[in-house]
Amino acid sequence: MTNLEAFLSTQDEKDIIEAICNAEDKTSGEIRVHIEHASNKALFERALEVFHYLKMDETEQRNGVLIYVAIDNRQFIIYGDLAINEKVDDSFWDTTRDAMQSQFRIGNFKQGLINGILKAGEELKVHFPWNASDIDELPNEISKG
Ligand code: CA
Ligand code: CA
Repeated sequence: MTNLEAFLSTQDEKDIIEAICNAEDKTSGEIRVHIEHASNKALFERALEVFHYLKMDETEQRNGVLIYVAIDNRQFIIYGDLAINEKVDDSFWDTTRDAMQSQFRIGNFKQGLINGILKAGEELKVHFPWNASDIDELPNEISKG
């Protein structure tokens, strides 16, 4: 079992949070990262459960993106809320996934997460640009289950 703390160092976490802040500076969308050891159910089902648990389905514009990682399985899912799926095409999720997977494969989890966050941020920026009335609806910290 990989230790959750060993998976990402304190500095790694800071860098990831900074990536979320940078991405959210350009979009009203909300990005969150959740890491846990293993999913006790089908990966997609579990990601959806976490999405609701983190109240990511309660954003005003329904534009939250969750990056869910089960570290023992080296598996992850990028889950976007309703309004996102109405606007982006499927290839978006593939390129975001690929940007993460290439780094995960070589054990560089921090960079994989940062790639995913920035990629998601770029796409969100196109469809949900940041505006002066935007608020940070969801905390940018990494959630650990
Ligand atoms: Ca926001
Ligand atoms: Ca946020």
